[in-house]
Parts: sequence; structure tokens; C-alpha cells
Amino acid sequence: KTVLFVFGTRPEAIKLAPVIKYFKKDSYFDTRVCITAQHREMLDQVLDFFEIEADYDLDLMKKNQDLFSLTARALEALKEPLSRYKPELVFVHGDTTTSMVASLAAFYAGARVGHIEAGLRTFNKQSPFPEEINRQLTTRIADFHFAPTKKSKANLLAENIQESQIFITGNTVIDALEETVIKVSQQTPHFAEKIPFSSKKIILITGHRRENFGAGMQRICEVFKEIAEMRQDVHLVYPVHLNPNVKNTVHEILGNIANVSLIEPLNYPDFIWIMHASYFVITDSGGVQEEAPGLGKPVLVTRDTTERPEAVTAGTVKLAGTNSIKLKSAILELLDQPEAYKAMSKAHNPYGDGKASARILDIVKKKL
Ligand code: UDP
Repeated sequence: KTVLFVFGTRPEAIKLAPVIKYFKKDSYFDTRVCITAQHREMLDQVLDFFEIEADYDLDLMKKNQDLFSLTARALEALKEPLSRYKPELVFVHGDTTTSMVASLAAFYAGARVGHIEAGLRTFNKQSPFPEEINRQLTTRIADFHFAPTKKSKANLLAENIQESQIFITGNTVIDALEETVIKVSQQTPHFAEKIPFSSKKIILITGHRRENFGAGMQRICEVFKEIAEMRQDVHLVYPVHLNPNVKNTVHEILGNIANVSLIEPLNYPDFIWIMHASYFVITDSGGVQEEAPGLGKPVLVTRDTTERPEAVTAGTVKLAGTNSIKLKSAILELLDQPEAYKAMSKAHNPYGDGKASARILDIVKKKL
């Protein structure tokens, strides 16, 4: 049976890599990989690290691409790999434009669709934009829904998805993380030598959500600047996303501060290394909200909503929002109140046991 994995961004590649490995090892399946390369630079590093070779590369990345042209070009371009491989099942992941378009293309081509990391919701069309609509539309089309948690299954049931088509598997991000932590614990990466953090507490920061572009991103960066200037016991490490909307604001406000390192996006194993070495994490990323609790690191989320409430309930993640006062006090609480820090770092990680990919393989084998 032929299965085709279609994806285009770094987080999809990280979370699909362990699943692809399982399918490739199983001779029951002819496993094919098609990348849209929605985000070229950051995607390739991940493929190299996990030793995944794409059978088909649509190479859609264009300078200043907008959602209209990306969506249209992806739909058109997917026709060719779908007719070449004639997959019984197309796997998509999460909430990207690639996932939504690939589901539609697979449906047009008569293939069934398996949606990994299904059922995450904010129920707010604008946040995250456009991901919330991407994931809702993918749900409408998909035939198999691999939900990471009970909560995500409940969201799908509430939208009238048949229970027999929903499978709770855990999140494959933990499978990737476990494999990577073992590899990175053996050596210190080169980039670390360039960052003079020595005995300081490292706060690891990432941010790239469209909804924060502009005023939100500015407010958040001003808070980081204030914290860096008032606290010489911390070092902020910020791998800055390549999107110019992020890059320009971050460098304008946080450039040239001694205890702030603005660096290029790290490759995945280096990022996991620095997360492991950090005191806590501030992010608007989805994947990082799932990984950090897996490493016992508290997370402050610079958003007002999250489609990952499980970790908020478990106590490892706090929604700090983009309001300056709230964000600053959440950071100072973690720095100054050991009990609050301990409670967050010791809480349970609700995202899985590292066996999600094996479960997905078993289920598909029975169903296809
Ligand atoms: N990540 C990485 N290098 C970085 C920042 C993040 O490899 O410099 C990884 C991180 O470990 C996580 C994923 O990228 O697995 C998250 O991607 P992103 O924040 O772009 O997207 P989201 O998870 O919000 O969809």
C-alpha cells in the first residue's frame, strides 16, 4: 500500500520524522515523501538531521509569498505527485497551509487522508491566523484523525467526527524529542561557545506568530529589554525567526544588549540542547509548548489563547499574553519565587510517552 506524507515547514518535519521512519521500516507500505518547502531554509536542516530524503520536492517558497499565491500554487502543484504515486493514504500534519491544501488535493485525487495532531482548537478564527482555519478545514476532509490527547479527541467529537475514526496516540513531538535528547546530551554544540552566558540563568525565547506581528511583538520585545537591563543574573537567548516581520522588530529593540544573544534559527538538535540548558522558555510556538514540559522547563506563552490547554491545566505552561505588565510579572515570578518555579518545572507532561508513531503505524496497518 502506498502512503504519501506531504509537509512544508520545520515543525511538521520534526513531528512527522519519527512517523516516516516507522513507515519506511515496514515493508507492508511503499512510503513516499513530498515536501512543499513552504519554509525552505528551516525545513532542510530538519530533513538532514533525521536523514529523510524527499521523493518529490515542490519547492514552492517564493520571496514575500502571501497566502493567496501559496495556496493556489500548492493545490495546482500537488496534482503531479498524487497522480504519480497514487497513494491510498495521504498523511498531513497539524495546521499549516500545506496541510489544508494537501488534504483537499488528496480528496480531489480520491486518496484518503490521515491527519496527525488532529483536534487542536482555539475556536477563534483570528488566533492563530491562519492556522485555526487550516486545522478545522483539514478535519472536515480527513478520514483518520490522530489526536494527541483526550481533550483533542473531545474537540473532534463535538464537531461530529465519528468516534471510530479518532485515535488518541500522544503527540509525535515527544517521539522526536526523546530520540534527539539522547543524541545531543553527548556534546556541546559550537554555537554555545559564542554565547557568554556562563553561570547566568538562560531564558530561551522564540516568537513568530502572525497575530503578534507589529505592536504585539514590539511590546513583548520592550519587556525583554527591560528584564535584560534590570537583571544581570539572566542571559536571554533568542533564535530569531527569518520572517522579516519578526527579524526587523527584534533586532531594532533588542540589538546590542550585552546579556541578550540574538542568533539565527538553530538547527533542531542545537535548539533542543539550549532548551535543555535553559532555566525557562518564553514562546508563542506550538511545538515548543509541548517540548519544554517534556524537558521539565516552565513555559510562558506570549499569546492570549492556546490550542494546547493540557499543559496549562497540568501547570507547566502559563499564558502570559502580550500585555507588558502581565508578561513582566510572570517572568519575575519565575526568577524570584523558587516555589512557583518548582511547581511549574515538576508538573506532568501531558503530551505523550514517545510511542505515538508506533501507534499510528499499527492503526493504519489495521485500517488500510
Ligand atoms: N525549533 C528549532 N530551531 C529554532 C526554534 C525552534 O528547531 O531555532 C524547533 C522546535 O524545537 C520545535 C519547532 O521548531 O520543534 C517549532 O517550530 P515553530 O515554532 O516554527 O512552529 P510551531 O510549533 O509554532 O508550529
